[in-house]
Amino acid sequence: MNPRQDFPFFSKRPELVFLDSAASTQRAKPVLDAMQDFEESHYSNVHRGSSTLSEEATESYEQSREIVATFIGAQPEQLVFTRGTTEGLNFVAQARTYASVLYTELEHNSNVLPWKMRARQTFLMKPTDLTITPDELNEALQEHKPKLVTFTHTSNVTGITNDVKELCKVASDNNVQSVIDFAQGAASSPIDIKKVPCTFLAFSSHKMYGPTGIGALYGADLEAEKPFQFGGGMVDAISENNITFSPSPQKHEAGTPPIVQAVGFAAATTYVKEHQRYIKDNVKGKLAKALTEALHSVPGVSLVAENTFIGSFTTSHHSHDVAYLLGAHNIVARSGHHCAQLLAKRINPTGTVRASLGIYNTQEDIQQLKEALEQTMKKLA
Ligand code: PMP
Repeated sequence: MNPRQDFPFFSKRPELVFLDSAASTQRAKPVLDAMQDFEESHYSNVHRGSSTLSEEATESYEQSREIVATFIGAQPEQLVFTRGTTEGLNFVAQARTYASVLYTELEHNSNVLPWKMRARQTFLMKPTDLTITPDELNEALQEHKPKLVTFTHTSNVTGITNDVKELCKVASDNNVQSVIDFAQGAASSPIDIKKVPCTFLAFSSHKMYGPTGIGALYGADLEAEKPFQFGGGMVDAISENNITFSPSPQKHEAGTPPIVQAVGFAAATTYVKEHQRYIKDNVKGKLAKALTEALHSVPGVSLVAENTFIGSFTTSHHSHDVAYLLGAHNIVARSGHHCAQLLAKRINPTGTVRASLGIYNTQEDIQQLKEALEQTMKKLA
């Protein structure tokens, strides 16, 4: 069965060619069903009260943590639920003050600003190509000697995936902690954290067919980290002069967590896991290739990276004008710097148009993009 049928959005909006999954994906039916069932039959606050319903909700919430942790090969106590990748990265940057952090030119603003605002010193690494090589990373680490290095798993501008396993090894060989921004990798690249020696890894549910408002942060030793928010649910005992926190992960989840979203997030990881073969062969395989061919065939279009699930391109026109005119053909694509201003500026000052693929896209979608782009380019000529 084509996974497109798992997405009610497309039967409600059949006119749209949705090519903006890198920004946020549509939600899969099993995800919506899991959340609706939980809302209707099991909902209660968690970790509070001793009612059977509260215990039931707590069990579902903790089971969701286990499912999401297993998705990346981690233990449940190594995973905290966050609002998304951005909050996960801010958590790491705020939990301690890092003396020095190395980041790269390929990063989303969410993996630049937390370090700029919190670390005492930051160093920018500019890879020669649009990927980070272990040798270049090694050189940068030797030169700057940071305490921590942070890099993207997959660029949200190019769709190029870095060899994070090798990069983390280089970091640990240099005695440097490492953070992986997994936002764009989670829906398409399985990862086993036991084989990737990173210190932290952050990702978002809404980029992998799950709900918004939730993400996860993996930490190799979260118990050692200080909480970055304070409130109910994370404290063990409190008196006027003494406070003891709950063990991790509870001590990192102050306040009522996104309970229903956690259930949906777990269902999304299960959905992605079940479709890993399809995603590899189609989204990252046949469709990515077809997208490259389609964009190459349109005169005046220059592709930033080939055969990836993110088709970013430039023309001699402003990226917003091109995306706006594509919109008139019902193509949902994105334009601008995609919150990765350092990289966007390096590629093109007015940014790129980005057509990104998800599990529900088809060859027909790509054909429609090609035809719309041909007409757009003629109109702008
Ligand atoms: N990093 C990358 C590479 C991203 O693509 C995004 C989302 N565009 C983020 C971080 C931030 O994710 P979120 O908005 O879900 O926190």
